[in-house]
Amino acid sequence: MRPEILFPLFAPITSLKGVGPRVAPLLEKVAGPIVRDVLWLRPHSIVVRTPAMLSAAVDGQVMTFEVTIQDYQKPRAASQPWRVQAADATGLITLVFFGRFGDQLQQRHPVGARRIVSGKVEETRFGRQMVHPDYMVDPERRDDIPEIEAVYPATEGLPARRVRGFVLEAQSRVPDLPEWQDPAFLTRERFPPWREALELLHSPRSEADLSPLSLHCRRLAYDELLAHQLAMAQRKAARRREPAARIAPSTLAEALKADLPFAFTGAQNRALDDIRQDFRAGERMSRLVQGDVGSGKTVVAMCAMADVAEGGGQSALMAPTEILARQHYETISGPLAAHGVGVVLLTGRDKGAGRAEKLRALASGEARVAVGTHALFQDEVRFHRLQLVVIDEQHRFGVAERQRLQAKGEATHLIAMSATPIPRTLELTMYGDLDVSRIDEKPPGRTPVATRAVPMPRIDEIVGRLREAVAGGAQAFWICPLVSESEVSDLAAAEMRALALWKVIGPGVGLVHGKMAGAEKDAVMADFADGKLSVLVATTVVEVGVNVPNATIMVIEQAERFGLAQLHQLRGRVGRGRRESACVLLYDPPLSETAQQRLDILRRTDDGFVIAEKDLELRGGGDALGLRQSGLPDYVFADPFVHRELIAAAGDDARLIVARDPELTSPRGRALQVLQELFDWKAGLALRDAG
Ligand code: ADP
Ligand code: MG
Repeated sequence: MRPEILFPLFAPITSLKGVGPRVAPLLEKVAGPIVRDVLWLRPHSIVVRTPAMLSAAVDGQVMTFEVTIQDYQKPRAASQPWRVQAADATGLITLVFFGRFGDQLQQRHPVGARRIVSGKVEETRFGRQMVHPDYMVDPERRDDIPEIEAVYPATEGLPARRVRGFVLEAQSRVPDLPEWQDPAFLTRERFPPWREALELLHSPRSEADLSPLSLHCRRLAYDELLAHQLAMAQRKAARRREPAARIAPSTLAEALKADLPFAFTGAQNRALDDIRQDFRAGERMSRLVQGDVGSGKTVVAMCAMADVAEGGGQSALMAPTEILARQHYETISGPLAAHGVGVVLLTGRDKGAGRAEKLRALASGEARVAVGTHALFQDEVRFHRLQLVVIDEQHRFGVAERQRLQAKGEATHLIAMSATPIPRTLELTMYGDLDVSRIDEKPPGRTPVATRAVPMPRIDEIVGRLREAVAGGAQAFWICPLVSESEVSDLAAAEMRALALWKVIGPGVGLVHGKMAGAEKDAVMADFADGKLSVLVATTVVEVGVNVPNATIMVIEQAERFGLAQLHQLRGRVGRGRRESACVLLYDPPLSETAQQRLDILRRTDDGFVIAEKDLELRGGGDALGLRQSGLPDYVFADPFVHRELIAAAGDDARLIVARDPELTSPRGRALQVLQELFDWKAGLALRDAG
């Protein structure tokens, strides 16, 4: 239940003075549907309206002058404006007014009157002018002109100054709310009270007041981060309160490990230990296993599934595509079956009697492990005792999909796997409600991928080398990014590329793109994986995780357009065997300095976590990394990059609060409930809830 004290802020924007049926949709577009959203608009700049002399006028700037009205020039046609000559001791300016209100103008601002005018100066071939001044007042009423004015986002039909008016109006509705922050913390950080912070936000005195690093902006950011971290900490605590099956480390898993032709890396062992600790705790596990492509996440999951199997339970491993599911099945079914554990592969392709038999094996518990695609969460799929769900490439699934699969068991444990390395600073923001294990070590014996940046004009050289390599039996990926607004023209570009390569290299060139039906795409991918194609041109990011050990060349066109993490993931598609691999980053010259630095990082290191960290540093705030798509929340005040040290503090704060006052019933707890309501970050609203 929303506390009554917040009602004025959650009222529709039409409750603001002056917001009628015409304005409401415009204001909603700029801000949002409720008063709070208007209050939360942030000024992007300021206008200073200190009067200047006309001799100091600068083209294009908003300036303020005290002038005397000298003359009126009537328009010769209705389409032409009224022109009003004005001057001070140092120069002239023409005030320009469109519309038929000349008489009115003349009455209000008669010749000889002194006026303060403020607006944008334009130097034109008709001389200096100001079209529709923002202000035009008698010097006696100079107080009507704010000396410093915050400028808000605007839209067609709703100028920034009207938006500002609504913001001020919204501000007058702000209630006095109980303080939800720890007073000692506020003092230490020199943070103003919440209401004051909002006032400062909307009445900036200088550019510095607009900075996200200003104390009031940091305060508002911290409020938002705490609300979010608190919601995640509450969800995590609630999940842990749910009793779940205790699962012991198995001799089976140890036997499987011994069977492998390699030893686990330290990082793989640590990840498995983390999982086993969760398994033993009798609490419901939700653990994210993060690790570069090829870091060996699948075998770790296999061991966890072996533990479950030996304890009499079942596991389901879900992959986003059929080809990935098939590869996982091939990896784990042999080793598990060798120890008598039944594994079933279930995809959209299974039909009729074959499918019925698989469903029966899962329902009876005869099969202990299911590997599959979305087909796994269909209603007909039933398990005897599902205890563990493993999701590969977790970002490819929605929360609802995952929950449907988990609901097939009771308090099922979850392992989510991701090959997108997230910088540490963002981990808490994106996965605050999960436990995270990082596999930050590569299996030994991999040869690093030789990475080169090559300007586009030298593409023929690259194609020539590619032809030689293919003649020698190599396989290559060729990535054409989706860059333009129009998918159609991007697709056409990729088709042209495939055709051009086909002319040089021959029939072994295939094309996959996002517009293809799943089965069609899978078929092309499978042909490539089977070696029937030697070059695969792709518009979309090649299915993350697909393993084609024979592929040793990766060419990426317009590499400067990709995020570093993405480039790194693409590069991870090659270099999986012992043979030398190469990655060619084709770019359109000239490269900006940052672009140059970014490509350099890629050449220097092969560690996804390092790359993600550096990329964040180089590109700074905003959503340069495209992380929002992958689950970075859309904050109003907080910027996960700029405010990164606040994230850590909010995380600690949230954990402490949940430990001491899980139901938020203390005075601070109740104030925090108001805060959560204010930001819509409530424990129940699980955006990416793991439970
Ligand atoms: P990920 O899912 O993290 O991309 P995989 O689990 O598919 O990685 O592993 C990639 C390849 O590396 C597989 O062929 C796997 O057998 C192999 N592999 C996994 N762990 C090791 C290791 N510790 N040493 C050598 N090879 C390994
Ligand atoms: Mg994988």
